[in-house]
Amino acid sequence: MKQLTIPDVVRIGADDFKIVYPEVIIIGNKCDYAGSINTETKQIALLEEYTPEQRLSPFFHELVHGIFREANLRELFENEDVVDRVGRVLHQIMRDNYFYKDVVEKKTTRKSVVRNRG
Ligand SMILES: [Zn+2]
Repeated sequence: MKQLTIPDVVRIGADDFKIVYPEVIIIGNKCDYAGSINTETKQIALLEEYTPEQRLSPFFHELVHGIFREANLRELFENEDVVDRVGRVLHQIMRDNYFYKDVVEKKTTRKSVVRNRG
């Protein structure tokens, strides 16, 4: 069975975002968030109490925020509805497809260097 896993760090453009798992996520004066992205501290927070499976939706949502920021799409970055829709489709695509395969590098045949001494 395919199992999506959330990495410890996700690189978006040139920035590495660390995934952290706090007990509560507070934005402004609200604390009922399942996830958040902080583009200053370069962290994506996902609720600790969620199961790995439950964390996937908020993870992809926050990832899309990060993608829009990286693409300099400020209006979309702030549009929760668009972020939510794109996040859901991205989650589905990542769940239903394989993008990676193991690549076995061809061993280069090293020619032994023979040094002649005169
Ligand atoms: Zn959001």
